[in-house]
Amino acid sequence: MEVELKDIIDDLDSLKRSLPDPFLQASVLQLRLRVENLTRMAKSGPVGRPKVKDMSAEVVDSNPYSRLMALQRMGIVENYERIRDFSVAIVGVGGVGSVAAEMLTRCGIGRLLLYDYDKVELANMNRLFFRPEQAGMTKTDAAVQTLSDINPDVVLESYTFNITTVQGFETFMSSLRNKSFCPSKEGSGVDLVLSCVDNYEARMAVNQACNELNQTWMESGVSEDAVSGHIQLLIPGETACFACAPPLVVASGVDERTLKREGVCAASLPTTMGVVAGLLVQNTLKFLLNFGNVSPYLGYNSLKDFFPTMEMKPNPQCSNAACLERQKEYVLAKPARDAAAKAKMEAEMSSITECPLHDDNEWNISVVDDNEVDTAGVPSADALPEGLTRELPSADEFEKSLLPGTDASVDDLENLRRQLEALNAD
Ligand SMILES: [Zn+2]
Repeated sequence: MEVELKDIIDDLDSLKRSLPDPFLQASVLQLRLRVENLTRMAKSGPVGRPKVKDMSAEVVDSNPYSRLMALQRMGIVENYERIRDFSVAIVGVGGVGSVAAEMLTRCGIGRLLLYDYDKVELANMNRLFFRPEQAGMTKTDAAVQTLSDINPDVVLESYTFNITTVQGFETFMSSLRNKSFCPSKEGSGVDLVLSCVDNYEARMAVNQACNELNQTWMESGVSEDAVSGHIQLLIPGETACFACAPPLVVASGVDERTLKREGVCAASLPTTMGVVAGLLVQNTLKFLLNFGNVSPYLGYNSLKDFFPTMEMKPNPQCSNAACLERQKEYVLAKPARDAAAKAKMEAEMSSITECPLHDDNEWNISVVDDNEVDTAGVPSADALPEGLTRELPSADEFEKSLLPGTDASVDDLENLRRQLEALNAD
């Protein structure tokens, strides 16, 4: 960029020298000053924000976390700041992974590990996140560049290698095991792995690593015609792993590589990828911060705006040995799990009876039973402000006049009877 600007200044200088008219020379000089100004701005680089030590709920324009911390005040999340303790690994920083990484960065996630071996290309510009000037950079480095500007509080790690090679898989495993960010954490060094890859081999590599490490992960995918997608939660031993229910291409014995013909590329839309990334990160937040329900499987059919859900139990005949190990452990741990669930439910029940909901809150909002609502003296929903009258009867009034047994209908019948008697008298 700076070299480009220097060239423009040189060109302007030679243009100025070649111009005989002093008025035109002055105009060129004005242009030159503007380019010099641009050069100074380019040298200073983007103005980032300093790191924030503690997440604050203070409502001021300069607080990057006020809107997120408000989730606590609204009763959605118990402790939002816990998000800083979590590590999430994103495998595949493409159309879905890059957007998921940006969302988690803006949410203030503690640490993001980014895996991809590809480079940014201009052919990726139909998607979100990457910019044309990043073409040629590795996707992981370009992502770290952008994400660190957006939120310098997030610890970002860039891993540029292919996890499906022997060496790559080993490095992938050891990076997931690394606990330097949170040494006291149980299990592996990450809290969740998000698979945002576009091929079967890479999904199987993530599946193998997570089954071996007993690591919960989420899978995501977008169809080759760009109009549908899905997310899936995989908990080793508890839910079906990726090998438990083989996808169609494998079940039918077709090698996926033969499906990708020379010169034919899959379609992609920023919309579908944005929706899938949004669903993936929404469920990631629910999983990490413990609110709402995490979907075991959520499909997205954009042509019909249809979102199918389902649950998949692990397959006792799964071809993955580590999956079978995890299944055995899960069955053995059942009594302890049941006891913990029972204790939790009892604790919740006792807290409900001790402290009625909305007994006291800062907005003075109280919940009233529908049957107990006292309507005396309370204006009805369709009451008009003082000084205004209706030109036409309201719908309710109109209906009332048609109801049998009301005064109006009795009057009409009485009238009719009198008219008939008068006719008979004649
Ligand atoms: Zn399995």
